[in-house]
Amino acid sequence: MEEIFLTKNAKETKKLGESFAKKLHGNEIMLLYGTLGAGKTTFVQGLAKGLGIQKRIISPTFIIMRSYELSDVKYFYHIDLYRLQSEKEIKGLGLVELMQNPKNIVVIEWPERLGAFIPKKRIEIHFETSGENERKITIKHG
Ligand code: ADP
Ligand code: MG
Repeated sequence: MEEIFLTKNAKETKKLGESFAKKLHGNEIMLLYGTLGAGKTTFVQGLAKGLGIQKRIISPTFIIMRSYELSDVKYFYHIDLYRLQSEKEIKGLGLVELMQNPKNIVVIEWPERLGAFIPKKRIEIHFETSGENERKITIKHG
C-alpha cells in the first residue's frame, strides 16, 4: 500500500508524523529516505510527540542513535546513519538486535547505509522537496 501526502510547512509534516504514530503498536521499523533538509527529523519530532514522548527530539547525527522510554518495556529508537562509515559499524551498534526486538519502535534516517542489513519487514517513508516549504511524503507499507 502506498500513501502520498503533500505538506506546505514543517508544522504540517510534524502533524503527519504525530497522526502516523497513532497507528503504531510496537515492532515497527520505519525507514526515512530523503536528502538533507527534506524533513525526516521534523517528521520524527511529530512521531515522538504522538507516542507521548515529552522530551525534545534532537537529531542524533553525531551520536547515531538515541533511545526514549515509552513504558517499562517499550522503547523508541531514533537512529541517523548519515555519519556511519561502513556496514561493519552496524554490528557494533547492535542495530540488528535492536531492529529484531519486537518491543522496539525504530525509526532510521539515511537507511541506505544499512546495505545488506536492511530489514524485510519495514515501512518506507520517502521525503521529496517540491518547493521551498513544500514536501511530498510517500509512505509505503510492505
Ligand atoms: P532532514 O532530517 O531530512 O535532514 P530536517 O527535518 O532536519 O530534515 O529539516 C527540514 C528543514 O526544512 C527544517 O528547517 C524545516 O523547518 C524546513 N521545512 C520547510 N518546509 C518543510 C516541510 N513542509 N516539512 C518539513 N520541513 C520543512
Ligand atoms: Mg535529520
